[in-house]
Amino acid sequence: MTMTPLIFDGHNDFLLRLLRDPKNRDATWLTDTGQGHLDLPRMRQGGFAGGFFAIYIASPEVRENIDDDMENPPYHLPLPDPIDVAEAQPVALAMAGHLKWMERSSEGGLRICRSVAEIRDCMTTGVIAAIMHIEGAEAIGADLDALYLFHDMGLRSLGPVWSRPTVFGHGVPFAYPSSPDTGPGLTGAGKDLIALCNDLGIMVDLSHLNEAGFNDVAALSTAPLVATHSNAHAVTASSRNLTDRQLAMIRESDGMVGLNFATGFLNTDGKKADDRGFEPMLRHLDHLIDHLGEDRVGFGSDFDGAQVPAALHDAAGLGALRRALSQHGYDAALMTKLCHENWLAVLERTWKP
Ligand code: ZN
Repeated sequence: MTMTPLIFDGHNDFLLRLLRDPKNRDATWLTDTGQGHLDLPRMRQGGFAGGFFAIYIASPEVRENIDDDMENPPYHLPLPDPIDVAEAQPVALAMAGHLKWMERSSEGGLRICRSVAEIRDCMTTGVIAAIMHIEGAEAIGADLDALYLFHDMGLRSLGPVWSRPTVFGHGVPFAYPSSPDTGPGLTGAGKDLIALCNDLGIMVDLSHLNEAGFNDVAALSTAPLVATHSNAHAVTASSRNLTDRQLAMIRESDGMVGLNFATGFLNTDGKKADDRGFEPMLRHLDHLIDHLGEDRVGFGSDFDGAQVPAALHDAAGLGALRRALSQHGYDAALMTKLCHENWLAVLERTWKP
C-alpha cells in the first residue's frame, strides 16, 4: 500500500485558490480539475489526511509568480509594504468562511478540528481534518481582541508574519543565499500576541519569521517551538530555511519542523528547477532528522502555494513520495512518525483541551 501511512500536513494555501476564483469553487474543491495541488478527490487518492489550511492576505503589489523572480539565484526580493487591519480583516474573514463552506459543501468530507482527538477521529473515518491557521497576523489589530473571535471560529495556529512587516514583527525577505538574520525582532504587540496565543492554546508558527523574531518567541513562549513549512539552511542557504542553531533550539523545546516541498527551498543551488526527483527532499529530511531526532520532523507541503517537484506533482502523488522514503531506508515506525504521528504529538503538547 502506498496510501498509508496517512499524511497530515503542516501547510497549504488552498483557501487562496477559493478566494481568487469564487465562481468555480464547487469544481475547485469537490472535483479533480487537474489544477493546483489539492482538492477533495486528490486528497483521498494520495492519502492526504488533512493539515493546516492557511488564511493569508496577498500583497497587491506582489507579482503573480514570485517563482519567476527566484529563477536565477542569487536573488533578494524586496519586502512588500505592510497591510493594515482594515484591509486585511475582511479578506481573513472571507477565507475563514471558505473553510467553513468546505466543511458544509463536502457533506462530512472535511471537518475543522480543535483537538487531537477530533483529528484522530477524522483519520479513522476517512474525513479530511483541517486546522484553521493564520499566516501573517495582519487581520488581528495591535489590541489583539480579534484573536478571541478567530479562536472562537476555530483558529488553532498562527504565524505572526508572512514576509512583509506587521505590527507584531518582521519576516525574512525571499533571498538566496541569505542568513535568516535579516532585521529586528518582535515588537511589544508581538510579544503580547505570543503570550495570548500561549494562553488560548493557539500554536505559534515560526516559519517566515526572521532570526531575531525567532529568538524572541523562543525566549517568551511556553509552548514547543514549531516551524510548519521550513527546511534546513545547512543544505539550502535560503533565508526561509532554519540554521542548525535554530534546529537545536526547536529540539530543546520538544517542538518540530514540517518539510517544505517548494523546490526553491529544497534545491541546494537555490534554483526552482522541478526535475530533480525526490533527492533534495531526502537530503533535507536526513539533515532535519539528524538535528531534531525522529520525533520532531514532519511534512509542510506548501501545496497550492509553491512549485513542488514534478516527481510528486500534487496530493495524488504522495504515494510516490512514500515509496521514495521507503527505498531510502526509512522504516515503518519512522514513516508513521513523519507522515502524521509527530504532528499529532506536538499539537497534543501545544493545544489546551
Ligand atoms: Zn508560507
